[in-house]
Amino acid sequence: MSDNHTNTEEKETPSSQDVTGSEQSRGSDDFIHQGGCLCGAIRYQITHRPFDADYCHCSQCQKSSGAVFQAWMDFKVEQVEWIAGKPVEFTSSEHVRRGFCQQCGCTISFRDTRHPGYYTLTIGSLDNPNLIHPNYHIHTANQVSWLNILDTCERYPLDRS
Ligand SMILES: [Zn+2]
Ligand SMILES: [Zn+2]
Repeated sequence: MSDNHTNTEEKETPSSQDVTGSEQSRGSDDFIHQGGCLCGAIRYQITHRPFDADYCHCSQCQKSSGAVFQAWMDFKVEQVEWIAGKPVEFTSSEHVRRGFCQQCGCTISFRDTRHPGYYTLTIGSLDNPNLIHPNYHIHTANQVSWLNILDTCERYPLDRS
């Protein structure tokens, strides 16, 4: 079974507007926040706002998190700094690495080896998850039937494309 949290289109969409402006925006934004796992062994700092964020309802995200959906935020890899520890990565499909805390099991990260410039973190691992709200839903075809999310975000039955 393929890991369908993300695909090429999803990760490349924001690059046209965001990649070139990275150096200029650093420091001008003052968006510096921290997060980490449940036990505190892993701590990270983000130095920019994520360029995108989404809800994913796919079965891989459900199984890896133990929750019925996962909320993700997307960064360029250099915008994520590890303060303590680092996630251990599980190879959930050929190209996908899902990172978690070896001690407490907290789901921390997602990356696709085909797109080494990007790094995705769970919004729920932020010390203040209110800071980031997802912009769209993907894999809503797999959304649990009893869940009603009353937002106006775009909804995609599979990947966004
Ligand atoms: Zn997913
Ligand atoms: Zn932990």
